[in-house]
Amino acid sequence: MPALLKAEGLVKHYDVETGGFLRRSRVPLRAVDGVDLEIQPGETLGLVGESGCGKSTLGRVLIRLVPATAGYVEFDGADVLRLDPRALREVRRGMQIVFQDPFGALNPRMSVEETVMEPLLIHGARRSAETHAEVGRMLEMVGLPDSARHRFPHEFSGGQRQRVGIARALILRPKLVVLDEPVSALDVSVQAQIVNLLSDLQGELGLTYLFIAHDLGVVKHISTRVAVMYLGKVVEIGEKRALYAAPKHPYTQALLASVPVTHPSRRKRGGQARLAGDIPTALAPPSGCRFHTRCPHVMDVCRTEEPAMRAAGPDHQAACHLLPA
Ligand code: SF4
Repeated sequence: MPALLKAEGLVKHYDVETGGFLRRSRVPLRAVDGVDLEIQPGETLGLVGESGCGKSTLGRVLIRLVPATAGYVEFDGADVLRLDPRALREVRRGMQIVFQDPFGALNPRMSVEETVMEPLLIHGARRSAETHAEVGRMLEMVGLPDSARHRFPHEFSGGQRQRVGIARALILRPKLVVLDEPVSALDVSVQAQIVNLLSDLQGELGLTYLFIAHDLGVVKHISTRVAVMYLGKVVEIGEKRALYAAPKHPYTQALLASVPVTHPSRRKRGGQARLAGDIPTALAPPSGCRFHTRCPHVMDVCRTEEPAMRAAGPDHQAACHLLPA
C-alpha cells in the first residue's frame, strides 16, 4: 500500500543572529536536518525526542504550517511543498494538527461552537443548520455535552479544552492528524483518557496519526511504529514491539531507561545508562554522530563520521556505528 505521507531529505533551518554588536553574524539553526520517513494509512507513528530536538518543527513542516528549507513531502499523492496556495488549501483539509497547550491554542474570546465550526467556515461552508449539527456530532464524539457549545475555553479543565482542540481538528474529517504533544500539558490522570479517546477516534474515523511526545512511555500503547529524533535527525525508527524490546541506538536506550516503570517484574532496565547532560545546540551540532558528546559507547569513528541508517531487523533501522554496516 502506498504511504499516506512520505518525506525525503527534509530540512528546516532558521537563520539566527549570534554574537555581540560588532561581531554579529547569522548562522543556521538546524531544527530539521535531513529527515526521511513514511507514514502508512491507518497507522500511528510515534515521534519521540527531548525538547529542542526538532520534532515539533518536523510535524509543522510536514503539513506545511511552516515552510521547509529543502526536501520533498508527499501527502496522498500531492507534492505538498510545491503546491500553489489554492491547491494547498484543498490538501490542508486532509491534514490537521492538535497542539500541545489546549489553552494557548484556543481563542479565549471564541465560544466552543465558533472554535469547532471555524475550520468549516474557512473552507467555504456557510453557517447553517448542517454546520450547527456537525459541531454537535463532533462534541459528542470527543465526549463533551452539546451544552458545551455555548461556553468559553476558560470555563473548562485542561482535558476538556484538549477535547475541544481535537473536535476542531477533526471537523474537516482529515486523513492525517499531527498530534503535537497533545497530553504533555495535562495532569497524568487525564493523559490516559485523552490517549484512549484519540485511539477510539482513530478506529471510528480511520485516522492516521503522527503522535509527537518527549517520552517513549506516552506513545507506547498508541503507536504502530516509533521514530526517535535527536538534534534534527531521526536516529532510530522501527515497529513498536521491536524498538521497545531491543532498542539499537544508545539514545533510544537512554530514553527508555528514563521511562518510569511501575510494575516490579519489568524493572530490569536498570543496567542501561540514563541520559547525562543537555542536548547540544542545533546552531553548532557535534561533528560525526551528533550523539557522541553524550554516548556511553562513543568510539573514535563516532567523532568524525556520521553514521548512516542501518538495518537493525525487519522494519527496524538505526543510525549507529555499533550496528554492522
Ligand atoms: Fe554512540 Fe557512536 Fe553509536 Fe553515535 S555512532 S550512538 S556515538 S556508538
